[in-house]
Amino acid sequence: MDLYEHQARELFEEHGILVPRAEVTTSAKGAREIARRLGGRVVVKAQVKTGGRGKAGGVKLAADPAAAELTARQILGMDIKGHTVHSVMLAQPVDIETEFYVSYVLDRAAGTFLAIASAEGGMDIEEVAATRPDAVARIPVDPAEGVTGAKAAEIAEAAGLPAQTADVLVRLWGVLTREDAVLVEVNPLVRTAQGQILALDGKVTLDDNARFRRERWGASEAAHEGPLEAEAASKGLNYVKLDGEVGIIGNGAGLVMSTLDVVAGCGARPANFLDIGGGASAQTMADGLNVILSDPAVRSVFVNVFGGITACDAVADGIVKALDTVRLTKPLVVRLDGNNAARGRAILDERAHPLVQQATTMDGAAQHAADLAVSH
Ligand code: GDP
Ligand code: MN
Repeated sequence: MDLYEHQARELFEEHGILVPRAEVTTSAKGAREIARRLGGRVVVKAQVKTGGRGKAGGVKLAADPAAAELTARQILGMDIKGHTVHSVMLAQPVDIETEFYVSYVLDRAAGTFLAIASAEGGMDIEEVAATRPDAVARIPVDPAEGVTGAKAAEIAEAAGLPAQTADVLVRLWGVLTREDAVLVEVNPLVRTAQGQILALDGKVTLDDNARFRRERWGASEAAHEGPLEAEAASKGLNYVKLDGEVGIIGNGAGLVMSTLDVVAGCGARPANFLDIGGGASAQTMADGLNVILSDPAVRSVFVNVFGGITACDAVADGIVKALDTVRLTKPLVVRLDGNNAARGRAILDERAHPLVQQATTMDGAAQHAADLAVSH
């Protein structure tokens, strides 16, 4: 789970990392009041869980409280890479001398943590990393040893950061390890004209496995999850919204992932996907279908099930059950294979719903669902 910038900022502050004074609001009027409290001149920053806000016009300087209100009004409601801005953070502006980049990430392939740092931080860090990889230092961090003062000095030196950033590097490691994070990133970490080191932006990704003890961040997350995600979660289903037109239901993460690929290969885009998991009951199938069909972007649905623990006849029963409770308005392409496939197919044949069509192969079913979605 990703945190908002203002939440990351709060964590940094708790760990003794210097951050600008700032407050969050969901209204333009609130922005004016905060600006007044912060001394007039402020930076207005969109709070969305995606990067590149600066380039998208989501980070703006305002000269006084009236300008802050106007700017907040512009930024609130804005769409940044598919994320609607529901709140803004107002921060005291900082007189930047130099921008650095620092992060700790979990390097799954190497089975360790990695410190990534660069003396050329700021909004163009991706380009720097792509065109001049030498300007970005990548130093493995042994998780058992962590970032000690000596390690921090090594990272700073490798990246060409001033020695005084070492203290922040040690504290940032504390954020990663003591807050159950798998990623912390500060871009930019700045040196001000007054010589202070400040974290001006922050990204923190928490380990979802530790969610149960990170309730503190849970409420805001739930508030912004869509209603379909909430409904699916309440029924114990894994539902993910995407931006295409084919709804996808499958059993097991591997099959669902390859189903997404095959549909994409057939010239359509997945609208969402739902993993009914192993051992799914008829009820699970009916619940899943209800969720997928409630997504207005869906034009056709592809149900791809390879029966193992989940028997195909239970899946077919679930589809039939769903057909009794939802009014099907979109075509359903079903491919059943594996455990009890023949019985499952017979159940659907018998129900003979005009919008339900069966296919015997995954590729054939995907092509059919894709064609229906694109021509529909
Ligand atoms: P991002 O684009 O989503 O990464 O948003 P950032 O919070 O990193 O802001 C983008 C850029 O805005 C930063 O790289 C800074 O150059 C600039 N910026 C942010 N806060 C301040 C500030 O207080 N003063 C000044 N002068 N620039 C700022
Ligand atoms: Mn940034």
